Formats: sequence, C-alpha cells, structure tokens
Amino acid sequence: MDKILSLCKRRGFIFQSSEIYGGLANTWDYGPLGAELKRNVKNLWWKSVIQERMDMVGLDCAILMHPQVWKASGHVDGFTDPLVDCKECKSRYRTDHLTATPDPNIKICPSCNSKIDLRVSVPRLFNLMMKTSLGPVEDAGSITYLRPETAQGIFVNFLNILDTTRKKLPFGVAQIGKAFRNEITPGNSTFRTREFEQMEIEYFVKPEEDERWYKSWIEERFNWYINYGIKKENLRIRPHEKDELAHYAKACSDIEYNFPFGWSELEGIANRADFDLKQHEQFSGKEMLYFDSQENKKIRPHIIEPSGGVDRATLAFLVDAYHEEKVKEETRVVLKFSKELAPIKAAILPLLKNRPQLVGVAKDIAEDLMKDIRVVYDDTAAIGKLYRRQDEVGTLYCVTVDVQSLEDSKVTVRDRDTMLQERVEISGLKEYLLDKLKSE
Ligand SMILES: [Zn+2]
Repeated sequence: MDKILSLCKRRGFIFQSSEIYGGLANTWDYGPLGAELKRNVKNLWWKSVIQERMDMVGLDCAILMHPQVWKASGHVDGFTDPLVDCKECKSRYRTDHLTATPDPNIKICPSCNSKIDLRVSVPRLFNLMMKTSLGPVEDAGSITYLRPETAQGIFVNFLNILDTTRKKLPFGVAQIGKAFRNEITPGNSTFRTREFEQMEIEYFVKPEEDERWYKSWIEERFNWYINYGIKKENLRIRPHEKDELAHYAKACSDIEYNFPFGWSELEGIANRADFDLKQHEQFSGKEMLYFDSQENKKIRPHIIEPSGGVDRATLAFLVDAYHEEKVKEETRVVLKFSKELAPIKAAILPLLKNRPQLVGVAKDIAEDLMKDIRVVYDDTAAIGKLYRRQDEVGTLYCVTVDVQSLEDSKVTVRDRDTMLQERVEISGLKEYLLDKLKSE
C-alpha cells in the first residue's frame, strides 16, 4: 500500500488536501491523473447502469435538502455511533472498536491498553451527519445537514420521476454525487473519508419480485468490477448477518475487495423493502404510490439499492492495476488499467527533442489525436525514461516519432503490456488507436 500511495503522490493521482498548510486530516484531492481516472470510473458506471439499460434514468440532486428529509430517513435519530473517552490517554473510540474482555462492562483502550469501565465512562451518542446552517442567521430554523447519502434525493423525487418519465415497474434511478459523514475513525487513504462520492441506484420493483432483483443486482454489480479490471480472486460477496442488518433492510450483501489492509466494502446491495417511500409518505403527507395499470390498483414499490463508493472503486482499481515486473534485471512498475479506465490512452514522444522537425511532427500528431483520444505529449527526457514514466501511470500506447518517421511517414507504437513495437503509418494512426481502444 505504501508503494502505491507514494506513486499516487509522485505522479499526481492523489494529494493531501491543503497540503501547504500542513494538510487537513483524512481529506484528499485528486491530481491531474487521479481526476482522469475517477472521471473514467464514473463514466463507466453511468454508461453501464443508465446508457446501456432501458429501465434506468439518471438524476443529479442538491447536496442540501429540507431538514425534514433527515427526520423521515431516520438519520436525525438513528445515524449515531456510541463513543467512549479513555480517561488515561484521552483517545475517543467507537464502543465497538474497543478491545473486548470477558466482562461485557470492561473494555480495553486500543491506544494505551488501560481498562475502560463502561459503567463509569458511559458511551455518548454522536450523530454522524455534518451540520450546517443556511442563510445569515444561525438559529434552530436555519440548521440543516450536508447529505450523508445521495439516496434520499431519489426517494423524494419518486413522484416527479414517475410523472416525467412514465416508467413502468421495474425501473431504477441512478445518481452520482458527494456525501458527508462525520466518521469517528476515518483512514486508509481515500478508503474512509468524511467527504466522499457515491454512485447509488434505487431500483423500484413490485413487492413480490424483490428477491429476484436483489440477486440480479448483486451479480450485475459484481461483474462490473471484473469487467473493468479487478481480478476475480480479489473480489467477494459477503451477505450480512441478521444482527448487522439495518432495522428496515430485508437483506444486504457487500461486494468486498481484498485491499492490502484487508477485505473491505466497495459497494453494498440492500433490499430496503418499502421503508423509504413509507417514511416519506408519513412525513410529507404525499402519497408515494405507483399505479399498476395491469392490476388496476395502487402499490408501494419495494426498493433494491446498489450503493457504491466512487473513491473506493477508484482506489481498488488503482491497487489492482499495480504491477512490478523484472525486465532485464530492472524493475518495471506498470499500472495495468483496463483500456476504458487508463487515464491517458497514448503518449506522443519525439525520440530527439533537439530536432525541430521531429518535435513538429510529434506535436502535429498529438494535436490531431487529442480531438478524439485522451493523449499527452512529452519530450522532457530520453525515450527509455519516457517509457518508464508512461508505464508507471498506465498509459496504453507510446507513439514514438524518430528520424525514420521523416522519411517513411511512420511511427513506432509500443504496447504497454507486451512492450511489443509496431510501425504504423501516421495517416492511419488515429484509426489504428481508436480500433485498439474499442470496447469488446
Ligand atoms: Zn487509552
């Protein structure tokens, strides 16, 4: 993990937020390459869950919502963690993160190993929502929250979506957006942060069809990660135990990735039954029902929710892409991103940077390609070094312009994974690359 994080910093995937001020704990910025990678993750998700399906539509809701939403959703009362302070070292822990002892009242502090008696240090509830106030006057009426999940925006728009899209059950709504949780114990780089981005689907089904769609979405989402490069052996499905389930959920399964710090959740798929629509009906007074024209009656759909983390998926794709290979006694570091995810598809490199003619041809090629393909131009080092730099960030192809190119109008295209080189006509280069980049 340290190697990957150091590469991320060195090559501009991930920076610490506000670094020149000493950084803000557990908050990260995506650098030029990280921003490309994350965009690709989001675009691929949007393509697979919306563009390629007839039963899905997209949505983009505000981060700020009416405070009543969070009462209806249960977040105001229920979204809390019990916290305990260690009297010895002053560390603050979630009760379930303390080390257990045979006596349920006695726990051990993970920092200083001293005993904590829960009858003396009584756990206090701490709400995980981030509070903010709207407008110039800070009073009880101005308090609202930064959304702790994007899902509620979908639920409260259920009637708008029915009215405007005329969708028939089953159908789903998908959304990508930022969410905020005041996590007590963030960590593991971008894996657990207080500000994060979600890609969530709320899939509305007839009540009797929930099991079938729950299973189908688990399979669909599991395969998505594999299709775009995660090795199957690093991915698993973990159904929640009964005592792990949220009170409203009928069933929930996590898709977990084998990170260097252990198996951890990338995405959860939950069968939420009709909890959410029922709650909003009660709190808003608006009937949240669907008219089933076949059976000529109103029903309240049940909801299957595949909820993934953009930052977690991005990190997993990064970790899984990382490879070290021995090439002629040297270690080659290469990020083997799938062609869809690779931040840069091709790098255009002149063999000699002090030959204006070569540089001119290389720049012309880059300018022509960049209209259709994400490419970069680089002449800041010798060719061997340029190749290593591009391998390290996962660039799929290196296009080299050499002296020969001036005579035969051909360039050398080097494949990232095989390192094989091929001479390609400059006039046919774009078509050649677009063909290689096409999804199967
Ligand atoms: Zn302690």
